[in-house]
Amino acid sequence: MASMTLHPDSIAVHAGRDDLADLGVHALPLDLSSTNPLPDLELGGMSYEVLATGGHPFEGGSNVYARLWNPTVARFEEALARLEHAEEAVAFSSGMAAMTATMLAIAHETGKRHVVAVRPLYGGTDHLLASGQLGIETTFCSPDGVAAAVRDDTALVVLESPANPTLDLVDIRAIVAAAGEVPVLVDNTFATPVLQQPLDLGAALSLHSATKYLGGHGDVVGGVVACDARHAAALRRTRAITGAIMHPLAAYLLHRGLATLPVRVRAQQAGARIVAEWLTTHDGIARVRFPGFAECDPLGLVGTQQSGPGAMISIELAGGYDAARALTTSVRLFTHAVSLGSVDSLIQHPAALTHRPVQSDAKPSDALVRLSIGLEDPADLIADLEQALEASVGARDERRAAAV
Ligand code: PLP
Repeated sequence: MASMTLHPDSIAVHAGRDDLADLGVHALPLDLSSTNPLPDLELGGMSYEVLATGGHPFEGGSNVYARLWNPTVARFEEALARLEHAEEAVAFSSGMAAMTATMLAIAHETGKRHVVAVRPLYGGTDHLLASGQLGIETTFCSPDGVAAAVRDDTALVVLESPANPTLDLVDIRAIVAAAGEVPVLVDNTFATPVLQQPLDLGAALSLHSATKYLGGHGDVVGGVVACDARHAAALRRTRAITGAIMHPLAAYLLHRGLATLPVRVRAQQAGARIVAEWLTTHDGIARVRFPGFAECDPLGLVGTQQSGPGAMISIELAGGYDAARALTTSVRLFTHAVSLGSVDSLIQHPAALTHRPVQSDAKPSDALVRLSIGLEDPADLIADLEQALEASVGARDERRAAAV
């Protein structure tokens, strides 16, 4: 099977499992060892040296210690790398741990301490970069400001597409061109490798909050970066030193979840289009942001850069914050909760929650609510939004009456 050329759906089911038949097992093995037997002192020491500096285990050596190498995590990494068209992938304890390790690794490797970040970004990423906590200076800009923002000491350009929470689409090829020699990191959490492979577009690194679509069931926190072998070695070195490893049980669940990722993403996306279209007909909503609508994709990137619009929708309530508040607390089938990409639908208010730490001039609108569409029947989701929007429109009318 390893020699066959497979389509992406088959890769999602089979990647990282090539040796299972030889092992005599069908399901993924889960290795929870925190430490591993050493063959002898010399081979043990050599294994330690290789793994702690970002290398792979070698024949006759040992995995030594789970902060250095874990076979269950390595299987998930192999599978994710194949889906992302990357040489390798490195998994972390969360998406933010992946982002932090990437910044630290690239700054250390290059000796450069400046990052260019295209806004909007997930609030946690924005906060990390704006805080300067990593000893890295960040210039925030819009997509057309990247070329001007890049300096001699710029280590990395960071972007999200679709971006959290506005669902703005950023032209990855254009940013790569504007960045010149500087590597570009794309946060591919919203698109997933089912819809978009940033490395094929010239990006050096593709990062995921694996907590979202990769996990897909709201029961794992994790992060992963897909990249070439050189960056992967630097990331593993940083991971070994700083300790932000993925737990093997998380890797097991993520790997298991990859098999259904393409089916889930396509079904969630189809449901999202139906819900988004319905939302445009509601007079309580001033604007629907969905990458599948031509007005939300002025550069025509759906169909060229990413193969579909995805399953995230953001809406701006005509009744502003009060209406948004009423909507989020009136839903019954949607869960009012942060996070996204799960099989069940979630709703949240970014300005108050996920983007709360973002500087006020870059914060999303108070009227904006983000919906992550799950696998429920879209008719049920629409019915839920309809009843919740009644409460929301009521809040708008009260506000208008108070203003008169
Ligand atoms: N990137 C994006 C686009 C996100 O939405 C999130 C979390 O919401 C993260 C990164 C951070 O991931 P985690 O919460 O797994 O640390």
